[in-house]
Amino acid sequence: MSEQRETRTEVHPMAGVTAQRMAELAGPLGWGDSCRLLTLEEAVAALRSHDFFAELTEAELQEVARLAYECRWSADSPIIHEREEARNFCLLLDGLVALEKEVRLGPHSPARRAIVEYLKPGDMMGWSSLVPPYLYTQSGVAVHATRALCLDGQALRALMQRYPHIGYVVMNRVAEVIRSRLEHQSVMLLYFLSIVSHELRAPLAAVENYLQVMLSGYAGSLSEEQETMLERSVLRLTEMSDLISGVLDLARMHPEQIQQALETIDLQEVITEAVEDVQLRMKQKDLHLELDVPDPPPTLVAAHGRLRQVLSNLLSNAVKFSPPGSRVKLAVKPQANRVQIEVIDEGVGIPRDELDNIFVAFYRVRDTAETAGLGLGLSIVKRIVDAHRGRVWAESPYPPQGKGGSRFVVELPVNPLEVEESG
Ligand code: ADP
Repeated sequence: MSEQRETRTEVHPMAGVTAQRMAELAGPLGWGDSCRLLTLEEAVAALRSHDFFAELTEAELQEVARLAYECRWSADSPIIHEREEARNFCLLLDGLVALEKEVRLGPHSPARRAIVEYLKPGDMMGWSSLVPPYLYTQSGVAVHATRALCLDGQALRALMQRYPHIGYVVMNRVAEVIRSRLEHQSVMLLYFLSIVSHELRAPLAAVENYLQVMLSGYAGSLSEEQETMLERSVLRLTEMSDLISGVLDLARMHPEQIQQALETIDLQEVITEAVEDVQLRMKQKDLHLELDVPDPPPTLVAAHGRLRQVLSNLLSNAVKFSPPGSRVKLAVKPQANRVQIEVIDEGVGIPRDELDNIFVAFYRVRDTAETAGLGLGLSIVKRIVDAHRGRVWAESPYPPQGKGGSRFVVELPVNPLEVEESG
C-alpha cells in the first residue's frame, strides 16, 4: 500500500470550502488519488442522491453542499487512520471500503488489523469528525477504486450550531449508524467467540472423558489425594464447558427454534434434571437444597431442554454466589394461567441498581468479577423465557429486610401458544 502516490487536485470555483482549506483537510500528502471541489449544483445533486440528508430542506441542503468536495482512491489505498485526527465526514458514492480495527491479543503480541465491516455506496464514513474527541475510531481502506463525497467535519459542526435543524437531522442519522454498527459488532463478537468455543469443545470433552475414566478406577486405583485432585479438575472443566456452551448457545439461539420445541412437559422431571446439573457443585460447597414443588406439579407447555437450562443456570448462579453451608430453595407456585418458579439463595446478593443490568449479555456485577463466568447465563435465561412469552426478574436483598440473598422469579404462561402476541 503506497501512501506516496501522486495527488492531483482539481479546483472548481465556488463558495464554502476553499482550495486551501481542502488541501489542509486532505493532509500534507494529499488525500487519495485526487480530490476536487464541486459546483453547488453538483454537490446538491450528490447529496440528494443519498438518503442521509433526505430530511433537509432545499435551502439547508445548499448550505451543506458548500462544504462538499469529492475524492477518489484506487484499490488498496488507506483512507482514514484509527486514532488520527478526524477531519472529514464522507458519503460513499462508488466502490468498497474495509473498516479495520487494530487488535492486540496481549501486551507483547504484535498489533494486527481486523476487518470489522465493509462500507458500500450509500454508507457513511468518518462520523468521528462530528463527535468529540474528533479522532477516527477505525481505519478505512479502499478495497476497490472508491469515490466519496466529503464534508469538512469542523465546518459541518459549525453549520449544525448555526442551523439546529440541520444538526438534529445529521446527529440523528449519525446515532442510527453508530447504533447499527454497534449491533453488528456485538453479533460479530459473538460469532467469533462461537467459532473459538466450538474449536475448544472437542479437546475439552476428551480431557473430561479421560478424567472420568481415571476417577471411576478403570485406569488403576487412586489415592484419596489423587481422587480429590481429579474431582477438582472435573469441576473446573465443567465450569469451562459451561462457558463454552453459553457462548455457543447465545450465538445460535432463535425464539422460533425454541417455540417449535414447545410441548406438554413433566415439570418434576425438568427440575430433577436441572438439580442433577449442579449436584456435584452443591456437594463441594456443602449447600442444602430445599425443593417446594406441588404434587402433582402443574401442567405446563414449554421447551423441555430449554426450561432445564433456565433452572440449571439459576441454580448454578445460586451455588456460585452462596457461602458454603447455606441454603438454596427452588419453589413452584401455580397461579391462574401462569406458573411461577423461584430460586432463592442466601448468597452475596445483587446491588439494587444492577438488578436490570444482569440480564444483559456479557454484563457482570463489579463485586463478583473474581468468580468464573462470562455474564451470559442470565441473558440466555431471559431469551428462553421471552421465547415462552414469560417474564423473569430478580429481587435482592431477599428477604427484603435482609443484608444479602437473591430471589429469581421465572413466570411462565401455562400455555405460551395461547398467549396473544402483545401479551
Ligand atoms: P455469570 O454468572 O456467568 O457472570 P450471569 O449472566 O449468569 O453470568 O450473571 C450475571 C451477573 O449477575 C453475575 O456476574 C453476578 O454478578 C450476578 N448474579 C447472577 N446471579 C446471582 C446470584 N444468585 N447472586 C448474586 N449475584 C448474581
